[in-house]
Amino acid sequence: SARSRLIVVANRLPVHRVKRASGSGWETSPGGLVSALAPMLREREGAWVGWPGYAGEAPRPFEHERMSLIPVGLSRSDLDGFYLGFSNATLWPLYHDAVRYPEYHRRWWAPYVDVNNRFAKITARHVADGDLVWVQDYQLQLVPLMLRQRKPGVRIGFFLHIPFPPVELFAQLPWRQQLLEGLLGADVVGFQTKVGAQNFVRAARRFAGARGHEGLLEHRGRRIQVRHFPISIDYAAIDSAARRPEVAQAAAEIRKHTAGGRKLLLGVDRLDYTKGIDLRLRAFETLLERYENSNDVACFVQIAVPSREHSPEYADMRTRIEQLVGHINGTYSERGLTPVHYLYRNIPFDELLAYYLAADAMVVTPLRDGMNLVAKEYVATRFDNAGALVLSEFAGAAQELKQAIQVNPHDVDGIAAALDQALTMPQDEIERRMRSMRSRVRRHDVYAWASSFVEAMAS
Ligand code: UDP
Repeated sequence: SARSRLIVVANRLPVHRVKRASGSGWETSPGGLVSALAPMLREREGAWVGWPGYAGEAPRPFEHERMSLIPVGLSRSDLDGFYLGFSNATLWPLYHDAVRYPEYHRRWWAPYVDVNNRFAKITARHVADGDLVWVQDYQLQLVPLMLRQRKPGVRIGFFLHIPFPPVELFAQLPWRQQLLEGLLGADVVGFQTKVGAQNFVRAARRFAGARGHEGLLEHRGRRIQVRHFPISIDYAAIDSAARRPEVAQAAAEIRKHTAGGRKLLLGVDRLDYTKGIDLRLRAFETLLERYENSNDVACFVQIAVPSREHSPEYADMRTRIEQLVGHINGTYSERGLTPVHYLYRNIPFDELLAYYLAADAMVVTPLRDGMNLVAKEYVATRFDNAGALVLSEFAGAAQELKQAIQVNPHDVDGIAAALDQALTMPQDEIERRMRSMRSRVRRHDVYAWASSFVEAMAS
């Protein structure tokens, strides 16, 4: 009901600590999830349970912009085992089709259990019968059951932001049954895609003795709704931000100085091995190789956002991508025209919108991605109905953005052909496709996502 309180439980609080002359304070973090959930929390007098973003003792619960925040403290060693280890080096690769070999270590599993328990214990102190508790993402898959055991009278939802893998892959996990039991402690288990929900149902039947099918499972005498709820973005906010003249001005400058009269292909990703950045650059190189003068025709801007920089694997990948960029530019630059413009940094959101608006084609080719919000942000930015979208069939977003030029991200020649298609597509066809993708994202924005999930939890 509209009166039940909503408690969000997520790895991170929706704020980060900032240092000011007057001492340290808190600022609300950017991002769609926070902007969708904050108004709901205020409306329902809820709370948000999460880690404050730095190692050590947690501060006491506090209010920030009319939200109650309940910090969970994590030590350096908790973070090593629970976060860097089990979450990011076991679950992350396993759930993304094992595109890197997942590492299974008992010394990581123990802190994962321990930290999940701490989240459940702290949450239990702050909830009452009838409350809705919405647990977020792969770091906290054991929390639903751990919370139910302490508080059988609350409604519990769980949403997985990343893919749920096929059962043949999930079967590798030494702790597969415990994880499934953890998730089945919820009343509603939500996934990004229908296939994700189906994969979970198969795994729950095979390894946890659940019965039923997509939609409804039965387990230990309880009923669990299993559905897909594709996450989205704040369409209206992005659309109106993109219409400001400063953004058009910045986009014109990017076109003039970076593209210099050429068409502009754009990639925007966290620097992560799931994003397929190297294969995409090789596809662009193939285009340069195949077509004489193609350096006069198009350039590629790749924005790579620093991520997990302390991991040697991510550092190696960065080196490999930078070598590839150097190789392509060394081979094909001429007369002051550089084929690949590579930015390794965080880009302020307004500037990002200018890049989206400047692009002739956005190239989104993850090997596997839960959703990919960049693709949806690009669509929301293009109020001019211009701009093509090349999109991996293995991104969750491909289920909704059917009018994108869809590609197999492992197929370098296929991506090259898709880039060529994007660069030569007639304007009226680009426009027709963009209009229909915009109408989809407008109707299914992040507010619709959040309210449909909360409605499922409350029913
Ligand atoms: N983004 C960012 N900093 C940047 C560029 C982009 O925070 O410098 C944002 C981008 O706007 C998007 C998010 O990062 O909202 C990436 O989300 P996505 O689902 O595409 O991939 P993820 O990084 O979550 O795997």
